[in-house]
Amino acid sequence: MNNAKQTLRICHLYPDVLNLYGDRGNVMCLTRRLEWRGINAEVTGVSVGETLYAADYDLFFIGGGQDFEQEVLLPDLAAGKAAEIVAAVEDGKTFLAICGGYQMLGRYYKTWDGQQCDFIGALDLYTVGKKTRMIGNYAFSFDDVPGTEVVGFENHSGKTWLGSGVRPMGKVLAGHGNNGEDGTEGARYKNVFATYSHGCLLPKNPVVCDALLATAFTRKYGAAELEPLDDDIENNAHAAMKKRLLG
Ligand code: GLN
Repeated sequence: MNNAKQTLRICHLYPDVLNLYGDRGNVMCLTRRLEWRGINAEVTGVSVGETLYAADYDLFFIGGGQDFEQEVLLPDLAAGKAAEIVAAVEDGKTFLAICGGYQMLGRYYKTWDGQQCDFIGALDLYTVGKKTRMIGNYAFSFDDVPGTEVVGFENHSGKTWLGSGVRPMGKVLAGHGNNGEDGTEGARYKNVFATYSHGCLLPKNPVVCDALLATAFTRKYGAAELEPLDDDIENNAHAAMKKRLLG
């Protein structure tokens, strides 16, 4: 493949509203790892009041947000974006959704103080908030690439429960994950990757970044040939955190 002629079009949904813990760094990581390989990356932010034409993009990123921001977005989702996102998911577009963005792809979120947020139902899952938050560094297996683990940071009151139509991203090795009870973390459906892992998810776990890029490339070009990169710094950061969490 001639990488120089290739372009991946990334849609950053609600970049100004859903951006807890520097979640936008994941978009920078996706972009850099494309550029380092001589592949074009185009990033477009689409926020409240702007029309989403999902067919224009190959990969979607949705960061985390607090309950307040999630409630604020409900009318904007209902005004058109929800249908576009559901169609893009069914069409096999690649998604990375974090925490509040992850919950938003599900059926509903009932906050710990009883607010009912009916979300878009792109994924067969729901979330119920509890007063006690699940906070801290954590680790889980990344089942798309057997033998690899993700190190991350979680902070959520919502407990997410997966329906039979989705599988988890992996199993919790340390920390809480989806709900602190059933040992699952995140959700996978078609080409959607959803997780509670905030912030430096992709910089610290380049294997996840490349899995996303390979998924989007395969969907667009029929194949993915991603050159290996020098990941010494990333791998050292990953190994240090893994040692702290798992010994
Ligand atoms: N509001 C959600 C919760 O607390 C998501 C928070 C977040 O994105 N960190 O469960």
